[in-house]
Amino acid sequence: MQTGAIVAASASALVLAYSANKPQKIGKFFTLDDVIRSNRAESLGLMSAQRMISQASIENARRLARHVIEPIIQQLGETPRVTSWYRSKALNERTPGSAQNSKHLTASAVDLEFYYQGQERNDLIVRAALAAANFDRMILEYGTLTRPAWIHIEVAPIGKTPEKKILRYNGTSWQVLDYLAALQLFG
Ligand SMILES: [Zn+2]
Repeated sequence: MQTGAIVAASASALVLAYSANKPQKIGKFFTLDDVIRSNRAESLGLMSAQRMISQASIENARRLARHVIEPIIQQLGETPRVTSWYRSKALNERTPGSAQNSKHLTASAVDLEFYYQGQERNDLIVRAALAAANFDRMILEYGTLTRPAWIHIEVAPIGKTPEKKILRYNGTSWQVLDYLAALQLFG
């Protein structure tokens, strides 16, 4: 009997939060599929690991959507493209240039791209994020300073005031951008 109870307890702990038949909303504009979807995971056969996302990470994704992405959408008037959100450990390890403690591992970070009138305009995401000002950390990745290739953006951990820290990474070196200087550059 005791063994049975242990089996039952561990079985319930393994219940997947993800269900393909029951789309879970993440804020107003996204579903859990948007959070776990990854071209790289698909091509590497790592989607089953992506579906093992924890309930805690799903809650982070919800906070990121509500506090950071939705205010950006409100400023832009359109939804930017999500290129990377949650990354399982397996996927993060196979993602070139990713940090070992990446916020993508807990779904607290998202990579966004925005196309406006057929042109990649990620500078407009930066402008919208600066206006909404609810992010913990934003990284302007690759490309050029005023036209980054993508925007990495993070929600603050529960109970922590968003730092609104802006970083620039060009593929080789990091630079910290002053908030007011960034406003002048992108505002
Ligand atoms: Zn990222």
